Amino acid sequence: MQADSVHLPDCAADLVRFRQVRNTPTGIHRPFAGGVGLAFDSNDYLGLAAYPPIQEAWCRGGRYWGVGSGGSHLLSGHTRAHEKLEAALAAWTGRERALLFSSGYVANLTVLQVLCGRRHVVVQDRLNHASLWDAVRLSGARLRRYAHGNVEDARRILNAMGDAPGFLVSEGVFSMDGDWGPLPGLADAARAARAVFMVDDAHGIGIWGPLGQGSCSHYALGEDAVPILMATLGKALGTYGAFVAGSAQLIEQLIQEGRPYRYTTALPPALAEATLAALECVIREPERRERLFGLIDYFKACSTQLGLPLLPSPSPIQPLWLGSARVALDVSRALEARGIVVPAIRPPTVPHGQARLRISLSSSHTREDLDRLLQGLSDLCPRPNRS
Ligand SMILES: *Cc1c(COP(=O)(O)O)cnc(C)c1O
Repeated sequence: MQADSVHLPDCAADLVRFRQVRNTPTGIHRPFAGGVGLAFDSNDYLGLAAYPPIQEAWCRGGRYWGVGSGGSHLLSGHTRAHEKLEAALAAWTGRERALLFSSGYVANLTVLQVLCGRRHVVVQDRLNHASLWDAVRLSGARLRRYAHGNVEDARRILNAMGDAPGFLVSEGVFSMDGDWGPLPGLADAARAARAVFMVDDAHGIGIWGPLGQGSCSHYALGEDAVPILMATLGKALGTYGAFVAGSAQLIEQLIQEGRPYRYTTALPPALAEATLAALECVIREPERRERLFGLIDYFKACSTQLGLPLLPSPSPIQPLWLGSARVALDVSRALEARGIVVPAIRPPTVPHGQARLRISLSSSHTREDLDRLLQGLSDLCPRPNRS
């Protein structure tokens, strides 16, 4: 669809979505006017999506297993490759067992469908991912939301539930804000209210913790504190799919009762092989994370010096606050004209009036790449409090 073929009022036109067709492999470089363009738009934080050893594992896996899994996990699709990856993920995250899912969306639907029913109250951070809201609808549970990152608000809601069983969910690192969920405080609040606590660590897994085990590991929260850990494989791990880690009993219950789990095709086994290779890279190549942390520090320090309106974030997700969807889109397009790709994030992905650029850093970037981005931002971003 072409921009001019869409006839909408101005404000709505700023919200129309377009799919860009990319002709290059996943990574930070894009062709641009004969030179090299730079992208800050992917969740491939460790540069693993097109890393040759992982591509090689996928090809080897495909040659042995075939391309598709051939069925759901409960039919014929479950293989030794899936088993090995599940065992590795459980060991890595320090949980008793782990269960693979075809996507994070399906994992979240399954967990809530199995563990929550009409009697439950699901208490969620306002900024939790869309899949978690849809999961509540599938479960039939009641929904309450607390102010973003606010443990006291979560506690207040949990305490007001009466006899209803509670289920508290937060992201580990928030996908559009890049900040941490206050996991230790939430774990305490859940324990005090006898609510189950789940963390969706899609954007923390692979990055935080001594071996990249994610936000829970960063906060030293084990299975007792966070009985349900969900994370995706399509972000820092660079492949595709998701897993839930927890007690053997939890995992068995998800297998036995999970409708979204049961009625979907298993991940291709070759993808499980590739993910196993990616997991080995995360564990054995901590220098990727170190490089990323160095870039995050550098970017934040320079942005502060330039007076850019960055939201506070310790993670590779660095949101630059612009407010209006129009302005966010204009800045994003002007950057693109210089060969710099940074997506504008607009409602409904973020609340109205909170449009932003979502700058996503990768360990594959260099300081020179960041300098080029910073120069562009400095030239193009409106900064009302500077003359
Ligand atoms: C990406 C994401 C998901 C969905 O994972 P997919 O594997 O892409 O379906 C779920 N939760 C959060 C927080 C995410 O960022």
